[in-house]
Amino acid sequence: MTPITHDESTPGWSAPDSLPPVVRHGSRTRREVALTFDADLTAHMRKRLASGEVASYANMQVVKELQRANVPATMFLTGLWMEEYPAETRYLAADELFELATHSQTHRAFRRKCFTLGYAPPEEMLEEVVRPIEHLRKTTPRYTRYFRFPGGCYDETALRTIAPAAVTVVDFDVVSGDAFCDSADKIVEQTLDRATNGSIILMHLGGPNAPQTANALPRVLDGLRAAGLTPVTLTRLLDGTTPQPSVPTGERPATTER
Ligand SMILES: [Zn+2]
Repeated sequence: MTPITHDESTPGWSAPDSLPPVVRHGSRTRREVALTFDADLTAHMRKRLASGEVASYANMQVVKELQRANVPATMFLTGLWMEEYPAETRYLAADELFELATHSQTHRAFRRKCFTLGYAPPEEMLEEVVRPIEHLRKTTPRYTRYFRFPGGCYDETALRTIAPAAVTVVDFDVVSGDAFCDSADKIVEQTLDRATNGSIILMHLGGPNAPQTANALPRVLDGLRAAGLTPVTLTRLLDGTTPQPSVPTGERPATTER
């Protein structure tokens, strides 16, 4: 079991003796949004890399588009992704435009029946959360304790089980639909239709599983600007808001993640 490091000044830190807070959006009165990108990697996806079936699950064109536009974003990295892409992880960590967060070690679900994801049993859940946080902490002093559940799937058991990891759970209120979507137009439309003050927008950094993200991004950024919405990091978006300990309602926003 990976030891848990506690530093209350880390963005996203929460008291380990209570249920982790869950945030789905920031302040609805500020004209800011957070663009968030999940870097998924499962054991199965890793096999496809090893066999040469898939060339890469790191879509660095997404990163280039953000840098070109000088737009901040928050990346949720799985532990397997950081292990597979150490240079890319360090590259992201070195650019202050980006804030880095975690998305579990192996991208298994924390609740049964979550799309086609495998299931991490409760006795493995805490390690699934803690291990990538420690990996990130050793990579960059700018690490955070923001955590996103794979597939956005969790229940109260999952929240109770991961409480010692001292994280803030980050959901989203805008699903770009970029996972497995081959139409950039559709991603642009779905994102801009729903984005509003305080939105946390879900996108992916996952190469062939999100083939059109980079192509959609310039128009998404133009559209946000036209709507008067400024992309900021998650820490900035949540600044001044107090996330409350929360239990899931069972109503989950639809995602297309598999
Ligand atoms: Zn994911």
